Amino acid sequence: MDGIKRVLVTGAAGNIGYAIIPLIASGQLLGPDQPIILHLLEIPPCKERLEGVRMEIEDCCFPLLKGIVATTDSKEAFTDIDIAILVGSVPRTAGMERKELLSKNGTIFREQGTLLNQYSKKNVKVAVIGNPANTNALIAQAYAPNIPKENFTAMTRLDHNRACALLASKTGTSYSNVKNVIIWGNHSSTQYPDVRHAVVNGKNAIEAINDDTWLKNEFISCIQQRGATIIKARGMSSAFSAAVAAVNHVHDWILGTPEGKWTSMGVSSDGSYGIPVGVIYSYPVICKYGKYEIVQNLKIDEYSRALMDKTYEELLSEKTEAYSFLGLSA
Ligand code: NDP
Repeated sequence: MDGIKRVLVTGAAGNIGYAIIPLIASGQLLGPDQPIILHLLEIPPCKERLEGVRMEIEDCCFPLLKGIVATTDSKEAFTDIDIAILVGSVPRTAGMERKELLSKNGTIFREQGTLLNQYSKKNVKVAVIGNPANTNALIAQAYAPNIPKENFTAMTRLDHNRACALLASKTGTSYSNVKNVIIWGNHSSTQYPDVRHAVVNGKNAIEAINDDTWLKNEFISCIQQRGATIIKARGMSSAFSAAVAAVNHVHDWILGTPEGKWTSMGVSSDGSYGIPVGVIYSYPVICKYGKYEIVQNLKIDEYSRALMDKTYEELLSEKTEAYSFLGLSA
């Protein structure tokens, strides 16, 4: 990559923001030769906390970091950016209905889509982390008609990494010997972590594990519930694992997936695997030269089909609720 790249992080003074900023500034996002300018956005009540974060980054003296724009002004934050990592969103609180969560975040991502459209580079690449990530990405995309649709993605990489880690620990091998897990669908408890095409130590994962009951039950529910389990243990939601996964997501998108491996990303559905156009759905993808391609022609059995459709149905119902609130037509 040449020239200086401007990277925006929203919700920069939050948990994930705090963990992701040093990873980006130290070169783990775009490689060790790519100078960057960090754009950090926060809401006005968090202005002082953001200022603390800005001072800490300065004190790290990262050689690749050529400037910091720490601001509560959205227009300033979105101007001329090359990459947007959208972390900031309203968290779901006890008793909050999904409808309310979708409408609050719908408003934020409508504004952010409009800002991307007006002020960012026309080839800006957008990774949405803030939940409900798939639907938030869809809304931002809907309000940014000047930016290619394929530039909007949602993170399911943490789920993907969690699935690889669990397969590695079950088989007593290293993470590097596990590849080609798939997360299908929504970054939510309906996601389908699929090991049918995964490889562990050069062997098909189903053969390597040799325990179908574990794979169909404990494995899936452990991945689906991992976020909640971490909150219970830590008293706070996962932060550095989410930050690392977001960095993995953007890094592989821009610089390519390793030879022979795919990853999982929420991208615009294009009819692949029978998922209708019109949602941001997590698929297996291979990335090269800054573009992703959905891996094609994988065999889908009846068991997988049912779970892939179920998570699609949830995405469709999130879209219907959010679009009706925003007055958008599907
Ligand atoms: P976190 O930094 O912990 O999380 C931010 C978002 O990432 C949440 O929506 C969270 O979802 C989501 N997320 C996605 N995947 C994961 C994962 N695997 N583990 C944990 N979280 C995940 O939240 P904080 O409240 O600490 O920080 C958010 C910041 O955003 C605040 O500082 C707030 O001021 C700011 N904000 C900025 C806005 C803006 O820039 N316009 C708008 C709204 C808020 P979940 O809630 O489901 O855990």
